[in-house]
Amino acid sequence: MTFRTGIGKDSHRFLAEGEAPGGASVLVIGGVRVEGHKPFKAHSDGDVLYHSVFNAVASALGLYSIGHYFPDTSDKERGRDSREYLLFLSDKLAEKSYKVVNLSIVVECKTPKIDGLSEGIKANLAAAFNVEIEGIGITATSGEGVSPWGQGKGVEVTTVATVIKCQ
Ligand SMILES: [Zn+2]
Repeated sequence: MTFRTGIGKDSHRFLAEGEAPGGASVLVIGGVRVEGHKPFKAHSDGDVLYHSVFNAVASALGLYSIGHYFPDTSDKERGRDSREYLLFLSDKLAEKSYKVVNLSIVVECKTPKIDGLSEGIKANLAAAFNVEIEGIGITATSGEGVSPWGQGKGVEVTTVATVIKCQ
């Protein structure tokens, strides 16, 4: 059986007080809307978790990072629902006869609290890649007030993806 592993990372900062919004008006993490929280400053919807997962799966397949396919200078990408980026990748997986079997995700931030969101995020990822819920792990770390993420300035996500060749 052929296994491949990829690592991916992304980070976005929250919109500052009085700053003009970019592509996002609501905070979205892993496809889950977090009402009442500052959104990300981003060109697309800024879904940092989806972007990190994209980069990990793309890396496992020997592809490029997300900006290569969806440049943040393009007007078309403004406010774009990042789920569409994952659908692009699930086509690539099918093309190359690979399947995602595991996503191991680490989120570092002060807010929002990730544990309350992880069920919804896992369900979204399971649907996007047709992977079992048990194959998706999400752990969170507060950053202890040290990193910019730990100071509440934004969110950083690191993902390791494992894919297998379908017979
Ligand atoms: Zn991003």
